[in-house]
Amino acid sequence: MYKYDKDTLKENLSIEEVFDLVSELGGEPIMGNGLFTARTICHGGDSHKLYYYSNTHLFHCYTGCGDASFDIYDLVLRVNKTAGIQNFSLPRAIAFVARYFGYTAETFEFEDNQEANEDWKIINNFKRNKEKPQPQIVELKTYDNKILKYLPHPRIIPWEAEEITFDIMESRGICYDPINEGIVIPHYDIDGNLIGIRERTLIKENEIYGKYRPAYISGKLYNHPLGFNLYNLNNSKKAISTFQKAIVFEGKR
Ligand SMILES: [Zn+2]
Repeated sequence: MYKYDKDTLKENLSIEEVFDLVSELGGEPIMGNGLFTARTICHGGDSHKLYYYSNTHLFHCYTGCGDASFDIYDLVLRVNKTAGIQNFSLPRAIAFVARYFGYTAETFEFEDNQEANEDWKIINNFKRNKEKPQPQIVELKTYDNKILKYLPHPRIIPWEAEEITFDIMESRGICYDPINEGIVIPHYDIDGNLIGIRERTLIKENEIYGKYRPAYISGKLYNHPLGFNLYNLNNSKKAISTFQKAIVFEGKR
Protein backbone atom coordinates (compact mmCIF):
# COMPACT_ATOMS: atom_id res chain seq x y z
CA MET A 1 0.00 0.00 0.00
CA TYR A 2 1.22 3.48 -0.86
CA LYS A 3 2.02 5.56 2.17
CA TYR A 4 1.76 9.31 2.42
CA ASP A 5 4.09 11.62 4.26
CA LYS A 6 2.99 14.98 5.57
CA ASP A 7 4.23 16.94 2.56
CA THR A 8 2.63 14.56 0.07
CA LEU A 9 -0.62 14.76 1.98
CA LYS A 10 -0.49 18.54 2.06
CA GLU A 11 0.29 18.81 -1.64
CA ASN A 12 -2.49 16.42 -2.56
CA LEU A 13 -5.22 18.17 -0.63
CA SER A 14 -7.67 19.85 -2.96
CA ILE A 15 -8.64 23.44 -2.27
CA GLU A 16 -12.06 22.06 -1.39
CA GLU A 17 -10.66 19.69 1.23
CA VAL A 18 -8.64 22.50 2.81
CA PHE A 19 -11.81 24.62 2.67
CA ASP A 20 -13.67 21.92 4.61
CA LEU A 21 -10.98 21.69 7.26
CA VAL A 22 -10.85 25.46 7.70
CA SER A 23 -14.63 25.43 7.95
CA GLU A 24 -14.34 22.72 10.59
CA LEU A 25 -11.87 24.89 12.50
CA GLY A 26 -14.44 27.68 12.58
CA GLY A 27 -12.87 29.80 9.84
CA GLU A 28 -16.15 30.38 7.95
CA PRO A 29 -14.27 30.33 4.62
CA ILE A 30 -15.59 31.94 1.45
CA MET A 31 -14.55 30.59 -1.96
CA GLY A 32 -13.22 33.21 -4.37
CA ASN A 33 -11.25 33.28 -7.60
CA GLY A 34 -8.83 30.39 -7.22
CA LEU A 35 -8.42 31.00 -3.54
CA PHE A 36 -10.50 31.28 -0.46
CA THR A 37 -10.51 33.67 2.42
CA ALA A 38 -11.37 32.88 6.00
CA ARG A 39 -11.56 34.49 9.38
CA THR A 40 -8.11 35.01 10.87
CA ILE A 41 -8.52 32.04 13.22
CA CYS A 42 -4.69 31.80 13.19
CA HIS A 43 -4.60 34.51 15.86
CA GLY A 44 -8.20 34.49 17.01
CA GLY A 45 -9.23 37.37 14.78
CA ASP A 46 -12.57 38.04 13.15
CA SER A 47 -11.73 39.72 9.85
CA HIS A 48 -11.62 37.70 6.64
CA LYS A 49 -7.93 38.39 6.11
CA LEU A 50 -6.67 34.82 6.09
CA TYR A 51 -6.04 33.74 2.49
CA TYR A 52 -5.37 30.26 1.17
CA TYR A 53 -3.39 29.85 -2.05
CA SER A 54 -3.87 26.39 -3.54
CA ASN A 55 -0.85 26.66 -5.85
CA THR A 56 1.61 26.97 -2.95
CA HIS A 57 -0.59 25.18 -0.39
CA LEU A 58 0.06 28.07 1.97
CA PHE A 59 -2.08 30.37 4.03
CA HIS A 60 -1.29 34.00 4.44
CA CYS A 61 -2.46 36.12 7.35
CA TYR A 62 -2.55 39.78 6.42
CA THR A 63 -3.23 41.06 9.91
CA GLY A 64 -2.43 39.77 13.39
CA CYS A 65 0.25 37.22 12.49
CA GLY A 66 2.33 40.00 10.94
CA ASP A 67 2.01 39.27 7.24
CA ALA A 68 3.04 35.64 7.67
CA SER A 69 2.74 32.55 5.45
CA PHE A 70 2.21 29.09 6.90
CA ASP A 71 0.90 25.70 5.89
CA ILE A 72 -2.16 23.77 7.02
CA TYR A 73 -0.32 22.01 9.87
CA ASP A 74 0.95 25.30 11.20
CA LEU A 75 -2.57 26.74 10.93
CA VAL A 76 -3.97 23.90 13.09
CA LEU A 77 -1.13 24.54 15.55
CA ARG A 78 -1.86 28.28 15.66
CA VAL A 79 -5.60 27.73 16.12
CA ASN A 80 -5.01 25.40 19.06
CA LYS A 81 -2.42 27.68 20.67
CA THR A 82 -4.82 30.59 20.29
CA ALA A 83 -7.47 28.47 21.98
CA GLY A 84 -5.12 28.20 24.95
CA ILE A 85 -3.83 24.66 24.38
CA GLN A 86 -0.18 25.55 25.01
CA ASN A 87 1.31 22.06 24.75
CA PHE A 88 -0.24 21.45 21.35
CA SER A 89 2.68 20.42 19.14
CA LEU A 90 3.36 20.28 15.42
CA PRO A 91 3.21 16.45 15.41
CA ARG A 92 -0.22 16.68 16.99
CA ALA A 93 -1.30 19.13 14.31
CA ILE A 94 -0.04 16.77 11.59
CA ALA A 95 -1.84 13.85 13.18
CA PHE A 96 -5.02 15.90 13.43
CA VAL A 97 -4.92 16.79 9.73
CA ALA A 98 -4.06 13.21 8.70
CA ARG A 99 -6.86 11.80 10.79
CA TYR A 100 -9.34 14.39 9.56
CA PHE A 101 -8.77 13.15 6.02
CA GLY A 102 -9.08 9.51 7.07
CA TYR A 103 -5.43 8.46 7.24
CA THR A 104 -4.14 5.96 9.79
CA ALA A 105 -0.68 4.71 10.68
CA GLU A 106 -1.06 2.12 7.92
CA THR A 107 -1.48 4.70 5.23
CA PHE A 108 0.52 7.61 6.60
CA GLU A 109 4.29 7.72 6.94
CA PHE A 110 6.53 10.38 8.39
CA GLU A 111 10.17 11.14 7.57
CA ASP A 112 12.77 9.24 9.51
CA ASN A 113 13.84 11.78 12.08
CA GLN A 114 13.31 12.73 15.68
CA GLU A 115 10.11 14.57 14.94
CA ALA A 116 8.84 11.55 13.03
CA ASN A 117 9.13 9.33 16.09
CA GLU A 118 7.00 11.81 17.97
CA ASP A 119 4.53 11.78 15.09
CA TRP A 120 4.30 8.02 15.22
CA LYS A 121 3.60 8.13 18.94
CA ILE A 122 0.72 10.49 18.28
CA ILE A 123 -0.65 8.42 15.41
CA ASN A 124 -0.39 5.25 17.47
CA ASN A 125 -2.17 6.95 20.31
CA PHE A 126 -4.96 7.83 17.92
CA LYS A 127 -5.16 4.19 16.93
CA ARG A 128 -5.39 3.15 20.56
CA ASN A 129 -8.01 5.75 21.18
CA LYS A 130 -9.91 4.34 18.24
CA GLU A 131 -10.18 0.98 20.00
CA LYS A 132 -11.71 2.72 22.99
CA PRO A 133 -13.73 5.39 21.27
CA GLN A 134 -14.72 8.48 23.11
CA PRO A 135 -18.28 9.40 22.30
CA GLN A 136 -18.23 12.41 20.04
CA ILE A 137 -21.43 14.28 19.50
CA VAL A 138 -21.44 16.42 16.41
CA GLU A 139 -24.43 18.56 15.67
CA LEU A 140 -24.59 19.70 12.11
CA LYS A 141 -26.53 22.79 11.26
CA THR A 142 -29.52 22.17 9.02
CA TYR A 143 -30.58 24.23 6.04
CA ASP A 144 -33.99 25.15 4.72
CA ASN A 145 -34.53 22.90 1.71
CA LYS A 146 -36.98 25.17 -0.10
CA ILE A 147 -34.26 26.42 -2.45
CA LEU A 148 -34.18 22.93 -4.01
CA LYS A 149 -37.81 23.17 -5.06
CA TYR A 150 -36.98 25.90 -7.54
CA LEU A 151 -34.14 24.12 -9.30
CA PRO A 152 -34.77 22.20 -12.55
CA HIS A 153 -34.25 18.46 -12.94
CA PRO A 154 -32.89 17.97 -16.45
CA ARG A 155 -31.40 14.71 -17.69
CA ILE A 156 -27.67 14.72 -16.95
CA ILE A 157 -26.30 12.68 -19.82
CA PRO A 158 -22.61 12.44 -18.75
CA TRP A 159 -23.70 10.93 -15.45
CA GLU A 160 -26.20 8.61 -17.08
CA ALA A 161 -23.32 7.42 -19.27
CA GLU A 162 -21.62 6.39 -16.04
CA GLU A 163 -24.69 4.39 -15.07
CA ILE A 164 -26.07 6.87 -12.60
CA THR A 165 -29.62 6.58 -13.88
CA PHE A 166 -32.15 9.37 -13.98
CA ASP A 167 -34.24 7.50 -11.37
CA ILE A 168 -31.30 7.31 -8.96
CA MET A 169 -30.58 11.00 -9.42
CA GLU A 170 -34.25 11.83 -8.85
CA SER A 171 -34.42 9.72 -5.69
CA ARG A 172 -31.36 11.55 -4.33
CA GLY A 173 -32.78 14.95 -5.24
CA ILE A 174 -29.94 15.71 -7.63
CA CYS A 175 -30.81 18.74 -9.75
CA TYR A 176 -29.24 21.58 -11.70
CA ASP A 177 -28.17 25.11 -10.91
CA PRO A 178 -28.62 27.13 -14.11
CA ILE A 179 -26.97 30.27 -12.71
CA ASN A 180 -23.66 28.68 -11.71
CA GLU A 181 -23.97 25.86 -14.27
CA GLY A 182 -23.45 23.01 -11.87
CA ILE A 183 -24.98 19.71 -10.85
CA VAL A 184 -26.51 20.14 -7.42
CA ILE A 185 -26.13 17.31 -4.90
CA PRO A 186 -28.07 17.75 -1.65
CA HIS A 187 -26.61 16.04 1.43
CA TYR A 188 -28.99 14.88 4.14
CA ASP A 189 -28.36 13.50 7.60
CA ILE A 190 -29.69 10.11 8.70
CA ASP A 191 -33.07 11.70 9.49
CA GLY A 192 -33.41 13.41 6.14
CA ASN A 193 -32.56 16.94 7.26
CA LEU A 194 -30.71 18.99 4.66
CA ILE A 195 -27.23 19.61 6.11
CA GLY A 196 -25.38 20.82 3.04
CA ILE A 197 -25.38 21.02 -0.72
CA ARG A 198 -22.44 20.20 -2.96
CA GLU A 199 -22.15 21.36 -6.51
CA ARG A 200 -20.24 19.81 -9.40
CA THR A 201 -19.31 22.61 -11.74
CA LEU A 202 -19.78 22.06 -15.46
CA ILE A 203 -17.60 25.07 -16.30
CA LYS A 204 -14.20 23.69 -17.23
CA GLU A 205 -12.34 26.86 -16.15
CA ASN A 206 -13.89 26.67 -12.70
CA GLU A 207 -12.58 23.16 -12.08
CA ILE A 208 -9.31 24.69 -10.85
CA TYR A 209 -11.20 25.66 -7.69
CA GLY A 210 -12.27 22.03 -7.27
CA LYS A 211 -14.80 20.12 -9.33
CA TYR A 212 -16.98 19.64 -6.28
CA ARG A 213 -17.55 22.56 -3.98
CA PRO A 214 -20.13 23.68 -1.48
CA ALA A 215 -23.07 25.10 -3.43
CA TYR A 216 -23.48 28.86 -3.44
CA ILE A 217 -27.09 29.54 -4.44
CA SER A 218 -29.03 32.79 -4.17
CA GLY A 219 -26.37 34.38 -2.02
CA LYS A 220 -26.17 31.53 0.46
CA LEU A 221 -23.32 29.07 0.98
CA TYR A 222 -24.53 25.54 1.78
CA ASN A 223 -21.29 24.14 3.20
CA HIS A 224 -20.94 21.40 5.79
CA PRO A 225 -18.11 19.31 7.24
CA LEU A 226 -18.08 16.28 4.93
CA GLY A 227 -16.23 14.11 7.41
CA PHE A 228 -19.16 13.95 9.82
CA ASN A 229 -21.88 12.57 7.63
CA LEU A 230 -22.30 9.51 5.44
CA TYR A 231 -23.84 10.53 2.17
CA ASN A 232 -27.15 8.78 1.40
CA LEU A 233 -27.45 7.20 4.85
CA ASN A 234 -31.00 8.58 5.00
CA ASN A 235 -31.86 6.28 2.09
CA SER A 236 -29.66 3.28 2.86
CA LYS A 237 -30.29 3.01 6.63
CA LYS A 238 -33.22 0.62 6.12
CA ALA A 239 -31.23 -1.76 3.95
CA ILE A 240 -28.30 -1.54 6.37
CA SER A 241 -30.46 -2.49 9.32
CA THR A 242 -32.11 -5.31 7.33
CA PHE A 243 -28.84 -6.83 6.13
CA GLN A 244 -26.77 -5.81 9.16
CA LYS A 245 -24.05 -4.89 6.74
CA ALA A 246 -22.76 -1.67 5.26
CA ILE A 247 -20.20 -1.13 2.54
CA VAL A 248 -18.72 2.35 2.75
CA PHE A 249 -17.07 3.86 -0.30
CA GLU A 250 -14.72 6.78 -0.46
CA GLY A 251 -16.14 8.85 -3.26
CA LYS A 252 -14.15 10.57 -5.96
CA ARG A 253 -14.31 14.30 -5.36
ZN1 LIG B 1 -3.21 35.62 11.87
